Formats: sequence, C-alpha cells, structure tokens
Amino acid sequence: MVGAWLLLWGALALSCRGEVAFLRHADDSTGRCTYSFTVPSPVESGCPDAGGVPELRAELAALTARLSRLESRERGAGGEAGRGIPQPQYAAPAPRLEPGCGELLRANSRLEEEKGRLERENEELGRRLESSAQEIARLRAARCPPGGEGPGRDPLPAPGEAPHWDPQPLTYQELQSERTEIPASRLLEETALGRPGSQNSAGCGELVWVGDPVVFGRAESIAGKYGVWMKDPEPLPPFTRETTWRVDAVGTEVRQLLQYQAPEQLAQGYPTKVHILPRPLESTGAVVYRGGFFFQPRRSRTVARYDLRGETLTAQREIPGAGYHGQYPYSWGGYTDIDLAVDETGLWVIYSTEKARGAIVLSKLDPETLEIRQSWETNIRKRGVANAFVICGTLYTVSSYSSPNATINFAYDTATGTSRALSVPFENRFRYLSMLDYNPAEQQLYAWDSSNMVTYPIRLSRD
Ligand code: CA
Repeated sequence: MVGAWLLLWGALALSCRGEVAFLRHADDSTGRCTYSFTVPSPVESGCPDAGGVPELRAELAALTARLSRLESRERGAGGEAGRGIPQPQYAAPAPRLEPGCGELLRANSRLEEEKGRLERENEELGRRLESSAQEIARLRAARCPPGGEGPGRDPLPAPGEAPHWDPQPLTYQELQSERTEIPASRLLEETALGRPGSQNSAGCGELVWVGDPVVFGRAESIAGKYGVWMKDPEPLPPFTRETTWRVDAVGTEVRQLLQYQAPEQLAQGYPTKVHILPRPLESTGAVVYRGGFFFQPRRSRTVARYDLRGETLTAQREIPGAGYHGQYPYSWGGYTDIDLAVDETGLWVIYSTEKARGAIVLSKLDPETLEIRQSWETNIRKRGVANAFVICGTLYTVSSYSSPNATINFAYDTATGTSRALSVPFENRFRYLSMLDYNPAEQQLYAWDSSNMVTYPIRLSRD
C-alpha cells in the first residue's frame, strides 16, 4: 500500500516538474520587473501542495534567489534606459572621443560647403552691385539739367532755395515697385469711355482661364534676371513659328537679340545667331511680328522696327506724349513704360501720357510704318498693374508681378471702350514677372519670371 502511494507521488511530482517551466517576466506600471512562476496541474486535486514537497520548495527557493540576483543586476546596469532589458555585463562604457572626432570632420565639411556657397553669393552680389551702381550713375546723369555740372553729380540748390524734391525719383526702378501696387478696387473708375470699337477676329473670346506656367529655359547669368522671349505668330521665311527669340534685359547696353532654331535650342543654350541691335533696348515690352523685332530704344519715347532678315532698322516713330525711362512703368519698374503687344488683330503699344495722368493708353500701330491708327485711353492706372497684354482687341492686366496668387484683374475692351474688373487666377511661380505677352498663333502667354522663360496655357470663352 505504502509502495503504491510512493509510486503515485513520484509520478505526480515528475509530471508536475515536467511542466514546471511557466516563467513570466514583465514590466509593471511603476517600471519594475515582475516575475511570475506557475506550476500547472492537469489534475487540480491530485497535485500535492508544493509547500509540502521539499524538493520543489528547494527548487523554488533557488529560482527565487536567481531571479533576485537578475533583478538587482538589472537595476544596477540599466536605470530607466535598461528597464526590462538585461544589460550585457561585458559591454564597456561607450568611448566619447571617437564620435567627437567624426563630428569635427563632418562640421568641417559643412563649413567648407557653407564657405563655397557664401563665396558664390558674394560674387553674384558684387555683380549686382556693380550693375546697380552703373544704373544709378546713369540715372543721376540723366537728371542733370542741360549744360549742368555733368554726369554723376546732382545739381546744388541756389542759396535760399529749397532743395528740389522729386516725388517720383528716378532711382533704381524696382525699389519703389512694392509701394505702387494698390488694390484693384481703387483703380477702376465708373466712367466709361465711349470710343469707337475695333475689329474682333472670328474664334475670339474673353479670357476665362490661365493655366500653370510651363518652364522652357533658364537664363544662366544675372543679365537674364529679367528679359524677353517669344516666337513670331506670323513669321516670314526663312523664319518659322518655331524660331525663338530672346533678349537678356539687365544692363544699360542691351543690344543682343538671340535667335534659336526652336525652343529646344534655347533650353540647351545654343543660339543659331546673335543679332546686335543698332540701338540699345530699354523696355522688356519688345515683340516679334511679321519678320520684325519691335522695341523701345533706350531713353526715348520711340518705337523701332528691326528687320530680322535685313538686320537693319526699317522704321522708327515717336509715340506722342508717351512717358519713358521710368515715368509710367508697370508696378515692378524696370523701365516698362512702353510695352508692345501682338494679338489676332495686329500690333499694339501700351503706355501712358501726362494728359492721361498715368492711365494706360492703348494704340494700334501699323506694323510697317509704326503710324498710330487709333488710340484708346483707359481708366486703369499703369503703375497699379504688373503687366499687360492684348487678346482679340481686349487689353488684360495682371495684379502683381511677385505674388504667387496674382490675378488677371482688368479687361479693357476696345470694341466698347469699357473696363471691367476680373479675377482670373495667375501664378507668379518664381515671384518676379518682368515680361508677359500673348502669342495668338499658339493661344498662350509668354513670360519671363525671375530668369525663367515660361509659357501659360489659356482658355477663351466661346460666345
Ligand atoms: Ca506685355
């Protein structure tokens, strides 16, 4: 009987010990390690009380002691960082000098890069400073009265005479541009100007949408910060509708007209030919039309036609009363007083006069003789808008040359002689719009935006 009991006890003990391995290890809410030791029993009532079995008790005691050692070792090694993760005892403390050395090398490399960047920036600023200094010197010279002290010196006031203050000083044009942009609502007067209308082409409509700009190329040097680029909508052989024209317009002696076989050559920077204009160009309002390059020669109220085949000036004509050289520029300045434009109906010139008191005057020109065929005086202040172009006999203006969320804000219809406010979104992606014109053959806008040559798709209403 006793033998049978011992046999049964032994079997149970072995059975219990065989499944003893349920040891759990977890973090509690205070960050301490907790260990749970469980001995399952297949027959609850048949498993003897562990507290009464010396062998199991000894084993439990050994395990408890081992767990205590592990826990105290863990606390000693880890603190917060080592919580719950036993730290290897052989790991030596991390050496601090080695990463310091690598850090120094990396910092040195960063400083070298920064130095290179600053040097390049410095060079560019130097070039810009020189260009601005030349411009200011030239402007000062221009302000001296005839027979005065000569270029570069401001005339001194006579004794007892108050110094003359010019309300629109001809300093570097762009500096004042920000101040001259005023809300569109203040520009539009209610008076409508009843003038005879012009002819509209079939298929024309009102501008209802301008798409995102598409970049075709980028000027490589500071001379191309602003400029002109375009194609001829009605070219004469040997030129085609793909022949592309470009002028980098920064500087005082802008004479180079670059000719490219197609926009791809422009993007690659390989002109087919460089034309040298007989007179330097001043405004970024130049256009190409029917084999002629039309532009405003520097410091004159003249419009000139340069024949692209003959490479000579074939016509020059003064625009009566037209402001020039900073008298009535667009809001960004840059001597954009006289802006030429081409649409479905022909060649236009956009400017202002003293008589119009700064409002935009629009004249239709004969493309051969440059005679004015007809003029319209609008109620849109020229300095209040960033640029303008003509589509189907309607003049459109842009609200800002720098805002990424600009709008086409006015339309002046020459057919009715009336203006109306618009709000067609227009994006100045590179924040410096210096030229904007319409190409009627492609029905898209050409623009120069901070060294970038871009186009904008457009949509016209079909009414
Ligand atoms: Ca324009």
